[in-house]
Amino acid sequence: MSKGTIVMKFGGTSVADAGRLKRAAGRIVRRREEGYRVVAVLSARGKETDRLVADAFEVSPDPDPREMDMLLSTGERVSCALCAMAINDLGHRAISLTGSQAGIVTDTSHTKARILDVRAERIFDALDGDNIVLVAGFQGVSTAKDVTTLGRGGSDTTAVALAAAVGAEVCEIYTDVSGVFSADPRIVPDARKLDVVSFEEMLEMSASGAGVLQLRSVEYARNHGVRIHCRSSFDDAPGTVVVSEQETMEHPLITAVTHSTGEARVTLMGVPDTPGAAGRIATALADANVNVDMIIQNEPITEGSRADMSFTVPRDDVRAARAALEPLQAEIGIGDVATDESMGKVSIIGAGMKTHPGVAAKVFTVLGDHGINIEMISTSPIKISCVIPGDRVPDAVRALHAAFELSGDDTIRPEQPFGQFAS
Ligand code: ADP
Ligand code: ASP
Ligand code: MG
Repeated sequence: MSKGTIVMKFGGTSVADAGRLKRAAGRIVRRREEGYRVVAVLSARGKETDRLVADAFEVSPDPDPREMDMLLSTGERVSCALCAMAINDLGHRAISLTGSQAGIVTDTSHTKARILDVRAERIFDALDGDNIVLVAGFQGVSTAKDVTTLGRGGSDTTAVALAAAVGAEVCEIYTDVSGVFSADPRIVPDARKLDVVSFEEMLEMSASGAGVLQLRSVEYARNHGVRIHCRSSFDDAPGTVVVSEQETMEHPLITAVTHSTGEARVTLMGVPDTPGAAGRIATALADANVNVDMIIQNEPITEGSRADMSFTVPRDDVRAARAALEPLQAEIGIGDVATDESMGKVSIIGAGMKTHPGVAAKVFTVLGDHGINIEMISTSPIKISCVIPGDRVPDAVRALHAAFELSGDDTIRPEQPFGQFAS
């Protein structure tokens, strides 16, 4: 008897060694024995992707992006092949597929490709043939027929895209924490597990550093109506379900504190104060696929003089940003380009903020009371973000989490001893 289809995704920690991989295989088989058709997406094992990136930089200071994708895509293939072997030993049929074989078609933007289409015929055929289908996460094939990868954390997006393509009842994201928390449990051990979180809030959380779900996976799920259930791969407890705004029963003032430490600030000194300059700069960065986050421009005091413009980018994009800006420096007459790669960001997110003034004041006061200098600020209706020195990020997260009283009585801790999380 067949129920519906389920997509299950296992992250790197959940398949890190033979024991965990076999445990993941066991969970997959259990779902199949419950009567579901199962598509499982696996990440590279443990820190394999980091190792592959390091290998690349050992042989080249600026690895070719196409070859980088050939290299990085291998990690998830290894996981899938091994898991298929383990599942076969459990008396079930499993077939592993690369992203390309699974029909995941992307644009040509190497190392951060976007999924354009999922041609799932081969998956349907395999499911019809009573197979459990294992798909290598984080990768696809471009419209130019090259292997691509989807950016760090991209296996989440593979899983959601497949869930949409096969019409899965749910996309289960199995990870090393028991769900989405009110802050990263590595930094705030008494953070509270959220039973549900709205798409609106989850998008802001992922965009501001909560790597538990890749931003694009949340966008994709919202656009295609996929139900995400983020849960622990170590036990059976329910995790966090990402739901529509209508389904959220209550809107607490603040839902979560998020952070990132991989920020860099780029400052352009002496930008001509003329119409069009900002547009040229932003276009050059966009063409180079650099993700610009916050932007600040200091207006010159006297008319016709020059302004300074600062913006933040992911640290990994600094090189690309510099390269994109170089031709403009001479062309429109920008002075020096300075970079500071030690920035971090702390954000608070909450749908209830929309109707409550004074939240920003409290955030700034709390950070001030802890002697944390705010370098840049940006807001949305449900988020306040502050760029701060990178080394003060953990203090800032803990201070804000405490000030907004986000630890609940029913706090659920991560499934592993805290010490094992240290990276
Ligand atoms: P996986 O390898 O399973 O994809 P990730 O490392 O990508 O796992 O994501 C899980 C990690 O995300 C957790 O170990 C946790 O430290 C981190 N994280 C950051 N913010 C949060 C949050 N708000 N809730 C839960 N986990 C978070
Ligand atoms: N293995 C890739 C990474 O480490 C993709 C993923 O795990 O989702 O980023
Ligand atoms: Mg991840």
